[in-house]
Amino acid sequence: MLGEFELIARYFAPLAADAPGAFGLTDDGAVLAGDGGPARVITLDTLLAGTHYLPQDPADLVARKALRVNLSDLAAMGARPEGYLLSLALAPEVPESWVDGFARGLSADQAHYGVALLGGDTTRTSGPTAISVTAIGTADAVLRRSGARVGDRVYVSGTIGDAALGLAVARGVAGDAGDPDSRALAARYRLPQPRVALGAALCERGLASAAIDISDGLIADLGHICRQSGVAADLALPRIPLSTAVQRRVEMDAAHLRTALTGGDDYELVFTAPPENADALAALARDLDLPLTGIGEVVPGGEVILRDPEGRPMTFDHAGWTHF
Ligand code: ADP
Ligand code: MG
Repeated sequence: MLGEFELIARYFAPLAADAPGAFGLTDDGAVLAGDGGPARVITLDTLLAGTHYLPQDPADLVARKALRVNLSDLAAMGARPEGYLLSLALAPEVPESWVDGFARGLSADQAHYGVALLGGDTTRTSGPTAISVTAIGTADAVLRRSGARVGDRVYVSGTIGDAALGLAVARGVAGDAGDPDSRALAARYRLPQPRVALGAALCERGLASAAIDISDGLIADLGHICRQSGVAADLALPRIPLSTAVQRRVEMDAAHLRTALTGGDDYELVFTAPPENADALAALARDLDLPLTGIGEVVPGGEVILRDPEGRPMTFDHAGWTHF
C-alpha cells in the first residue's frame, strides 16, 4: 500500500485535474471562484475515535476539535469561516448524552467563530466513531503553499510541540498528568486554537508569501511549503518558540524535543514572508496578541534543514531526527 500522499497523488489528484481551484490536491483547501465577489474556500477533515482523539475525551471538546481543525485549514488559506457541514458516524456504544454534549460544544464554537451548521449526515457504524467536517469560508485572495521565495523569512505563530507533548501526557507516557504543566499541555492537544484572525490578516494585509497550518508537525508541514514552492527552509533550533511547559519537559528528557518538533496537532501557522515585511508582522503580532517568531530563512534546495545550537544540520526520518 502506498503512503497517504502517494495515494492522493496517484488516485485522487487526476480526478481534480479539471478544477484549477483544487490545486492538484496539494494545498489546505480548494477555491471556488466567486461570481465577482470573494472566492469561497472549502476544506474537509475527519477525526476518528482512538486515532485523532481519545475515546474518553469529553464530547464537547471532541466536537470543537473537529470544527477547529477545519477552521485551521481555512486559516492556512487566509479565509474567514462562514459555515460547515457535519457527517457523524457513531460507534455502537455511543449514547445520546454524548451527542448532546457534542452539540453543545459545536454551539459554543459557532458563537465564538461566527459560523453556522449548514447540513450533514448522521449514521451508525460498527467501527470507531468518525466525525467529518467540511468547512466553507471566504477570501478575496488566498494564501497558497507554493509562494515561498528564496530570501523570505520563515515564521511560526504561537509555540510548537505543546499538543504533541499534551497527547503524550494524556496517554501517560510523558510523566505525571496531574501537575499544571501537564494540564496545560493536554488542553492544547484536546482543544486547538486555529489561527483564524492571523490567516485572514496575513492575506488581507498581503504580508505572507506562503502558509500552511501545522497538523502533522512543524518539520513535515513546512516540508509541504518547500515542495510546493521549490525551495528549502534553513531553521535554527534555538529560535523555535517553545512554551515553558515544553521546555521543562525537554529538560527532564531530551527525547521530548523530537516529539515537539515532529509531533502533530499544533494547529499553529507556519508561513514565509519577505524580509521587508518584518515590521508589519511585528505590528500584526501586537494587534493579535500572538507571538510570530522568525525561525529561519528560505534558501535554494528542496527540504527543511534544522540546525542545532552548534549550527549542525539535524536529519529527520519517521522515527525522528539524528545528527549527520
Ligand atoms: P491537511 O493536513 O491540510 O488537512 P491533508 O494532508 O489531509 O491536508 O491532504 C492533503 C491534500 O490532499 C489536501 O488538498 C486534501 O484536500 C487532499 N486530499 C486528501 N485526501 C483526499 C481524498 N480522499 N480525495 C480528495 N482529496 C484528498
Ligand atoms: Mg492543513
